[in-house]
Amino acid sequence: MTVHPETARNARPYLTGQETEAIADALAVGQFGHGPATEQFEHALAQFLGVRDVVTVSSCTDTLKIALLVAGVRPGDEVLVPSQTFCATVQAVLTVGASPRFVDIDPDTQCVTARTVQDALTARTRVLLPVLYGGRAVDLTALADVLTERGIAVVEDAAHAFGSFQGEQPVGTTGVLTCFSFGPIKNLTCIEGGALVPRTPEDAQAARRLRTLGIGQTQADRIRTTTYTVHSTGFRATLSAVHAAVGLAQLARFPQTARARQDLWRAYAAALADVPGATLVDVDIERTVPFNCVVRVADRDRVFVTLRDLGIGVGVHYPPNHLQPAFRPWHRPLPATETSAAQLLSLPFHLGLSDDDVHHVTTTLDKILYACSLSRRGGTR
Ligand SMILES: *Cc1c(COP(=O)(O)O)cnc(C)c1O
Repeated sequence: MTVHPETARNARPYLTGQETEAIADALAVGQFGHGPATEQFEHALAQFLGVRDVVTVSSCTDTLKIALLVAGVRPGDEVLVPSQTFCATVQAVLTVGASPRFVDIDPDTQCVTARTVQDALTARTRVLLPVLYGGRAVDLTALADVLTERGIAVVEDAAHAFGSFQGEQPVGTTGVLTCFSFGPIKNLTCIEGGALVPRTPEDAQAARRLRTLGIGQTQADRIRTTTYTVHSTGFRATLSAVHAAVGLAQLARFPQTARARQDLWRAYAAALADVPGATLVDVDIERTVPFNCVVRVADRDRVFVTLRDLGIGVGVHYPPNHLQPAFRPWHRPLPATETSAAQLLSLPFHLGLSDDDVHHVTTTLDKILYACSLSRRGGTR
């Protein structure tokens, strides 16, 4: 029997080979905080995306908080957000004093649509916060007029979507506030980190202050003067030079990483065509650098436990937020979210997996789904 140790993990970081040296070099420079490497990483990201400016932050969670404040969110404002996301998205909304209003999704993509957003809009809505689930861009241009008319800004949670496209445009270049994550298992990792793509130079300046305790001067300027100016409240959320060095090493090889993630997702899609009980969540693979590979299945909890017992590292992205105790005050019924959340199963998805591993995962899944369907029909298993 062949063993498949890589299938035991749902996700893991992918290192391109240059990171260890990059960290050693950054340590030798001796500037561990926000430093020249951080600014170099910002320039490299801006160049990669084709935008004027990128603001790095210590995490995507803090990037979301900063983006919401830059968008003008004030305490009491309402932010439209899908329940189907990592809880960090909702915590960011609450941390800046706003109220989340949960939006339902299209089960086929796990993303909000123009229709579900329209149904959730109220007079208090200040920001629309779509989540680019699985890396898939969320195109809400159909709502552009409504949003402009009501003065609603768009902040994207693109934690999954670094490298993806919306039509012909890279995510991050469509004119909204885009928040990326460079956490351990994201498409590109800095170990921990995030970045904001601002809409304007004013946004960029505000974001830079908010990530640096409200201080106006750059790090380089502060060294040369006897004082600094605190303009606003702010977080302590700069990206360290050591983390930035890892990001630079990752970015240099990102086109290869992106292709490999697409190839892995396509290998799963081809294999899952022969697994009748599993419905693949569609990520629009031509335009997407996929973050995960998610299927919807009946008897999800039982399938999950059985696969785990067989050493296959399945996961769930995500338990819905509107059912969490901490978010109960903002609960409202979300039929599509609730139905599909009970079916979601994330298959092992990382670049340590071979085609043979994918075959092992999908054939094992097929056997288990078949056994479950027999027992639902009162069969012998
Ligand atoms: C990872 C993730 C975040 C948070 O990113 P961090 O960099 O870990 O703070 C936010 N939203 C989604 C959808 C995520 O997957």
